Order: sequence, then structure tokens, then C-alpha cells
Amino acid sequence: MSILITGATGQLGNLIIENLLTKIPTTEIIAGVRNLGMSSTLKALKDQGGEVRSMDYDNPETCQKACTGVNKLLLISSSHTDDSVRLTQHTNVIHAAREAGVEHILYTSFAFPQTDLKDSSSVHRLTEKVIFDSGMKYTILCSGLYIDFVNVLGLHEAIQSGVLKTPAGDWRFNAVTRSDLARAIANVLAEKGHEQRIYELAAPRIWTFADLAEVLTEFAGKPIIHSEDVSVQHWIYPFLSSIDTVSTSQDLELLMGQPVASLKESIVPFLN
Ligand code: NDP
Repeated sequence: MSILITGATGQLGNLIIENLLTKIPTTEIIAGVRNLGMSSTLKALKDQGGEVRSMDYDNPETCQKACTGVNKLLLISSSHTDDSVRLTQHTNVIHAAREAGVEHILYTSFAFPQTDLKDSSSVHRLTEKVIFDSGMKYTILCSGLYIDFVNVLGLHEAIQSGVLKTPAGDWRFNAVTRSDLARAIANVLAEKGHEQRIYELAAPRIWTFADLAEVLTEFAGKPIIHSEDVSVQHWIYPFLSSIDTVSTSQDLELLMGQPVASLKESIVPFLN
């Protein structure tokens, strides 16, 4: 068995490889990277007999070479900011995988597609269609919103002032950590099966800004309250309104085989 993980220099890819190193023989793991810079995880992978292969989504030839002899391919969605470029990049990888004889492709999509027209033309839905049309076995791993968005909510200011200010609204969140996603995705990669499945890797329980204020209170050792304030403006709020942050799923915990990180554990990196 040979498993190729693309975007291996990225935060999610790196964590997935870290998990995989504890689950399957290292010689079965191939890291696909655009630039050959080495993280400590990739160095460990290479030192233990794994492979690091050059693979640029923009360059179909490198993708096909990287996919040679691969049984399972995890395509981590591109971080390019232009969705039409991302779709071309993803299509390059999928076609290269099919040409190279990859049997099973897994793709990190986005959780809970909306049913409106705009979403059906989103890069993730269109990429999924290219995968379905390719005839390869597939697994779609729809990641929930990364918890990182809390970083722009003014947590440090809230701890200083005692007030977490947000715009008014019925804000509820199914956000997840990359660590939990990586654990679940590594299990899917390491296990047999999971073919023709679509998993919603969002949190099994939602939390609110009042919950966040409560957790900040614990960290600060003094009361932090949540308050709605019309003067608070940030691009993150229209973005949050445009996606489904409310639906929940058991898939992530089931695939991880353990509970997801608590809100308190999840926000620690953003308080340092
Ligand atoms: P990172 O930005 O840390 O990593 C992205 C990875 O994609 C990097 O390894 C990068 O390589 C690689 N990449 C980008 N362009 C190319 C290319 N042309 N060819 C080959 N590799 C390429 O993102 P994360 O790991 O944190 O997240 C993974 C993906 O999840 C993101 O790329 C994005 O699509 C999506 N995402 C999801 C969010 C969510 O809330 N669910 C939020 C933000 C992103 P290099 O190191 O060379 O740049």
C-alpha cells in the first residue's frame, strides 16, 4: 500500500503525516510538496524510509510523476485565494491521479454544503464532481470551519476589558481543530474501506459567544461577559453568516475514536 498526502508542508498535511507515522509503516507514506523545504515531520518521515515527492498542483507533469505507484491519494484543497485557479489545480491533480492508476482518492472539502445555486458552483462542489466523474473510488472529507477564526475576535482585548464584544446575532459554532481533523483523516487513510463515503467533519456540539466568554473567564480568573455591540465590524462576521456554522455531526468523533477537543482546549493556542 502506498499513500500520497498532498499539501504536506501545510498545517493540516503535516499533522496528518505526524499521525500516520504512528499507524502504518513509514515506507507506505509519501509526502507531496510544492517546495522541498523540510519540516521536522517530513525530515522524520524521510529518515525513517518514507518518501517526499515534488508535486505542484499547477504543473500536471509533477502531479503525474508524484502519483506513480500510489494506491491512495489524499488531495488537500489548495490554499490559493482564487477559486477558479483552485479548481484548475484540483482538476490537474485528479486527472493526474487517474492517469497514474490511483485507485482511491480522498479530498478535503468543506462541511455542510448549502443548497443554494452559489454553493453548487463552489470550488468544493465542482471538485467533488470532477472526482465522481473520474471513476476512481472516493472519500470526501468535509472539514468544518477551523477554530482559528477566534483569533480575530479580540480575545486578548476581552480579557483586558472584561467584555467580549460581537455584533448582534444568533451566533453558534461547529468549529473544529486541525489536530482533531488530522487524527480522523489519518485513521481513514490507515484503515481499509471508507470508499464512496462523504463525511461531515464538523463538531458534534455547538458553542456560542456566551460559552466563549465563560471559557475566557476561566482563563482570566476574572469575569468576562459577552456583549452585543453594533459598532463591532470585521469581515469575518459576513463570512461566518455565509456558511453553515450550526449543523453538527458525529462523524469526526466516530472517525477519531475519541471525543473532540473542548472549546477550552481548542482556544489555548490563540491566547498565547
Ligand atoms: P496551509 O495554508 O497551512 O497549507 C496549504 C498547503 O497547500 C501547503 O502545503 C501548500 O504548499 C499547499 N499548496 C498550495 N498551493 C499548492 C500548489 N500549487 N501545489 C502544491 N501544493 C500547494 O493550509 P491548512 O493545512 O491549514 O489547510 C488545508 C486547506 O484547507 C487549505 O489549503 C484550504 O484549502 C482549506 N482551508 C480550510 C479552512 C476551514 O476553515 N475549513 C480554513 C482555511 C483553509 P506550500 O507550503 O508550498 O505553500
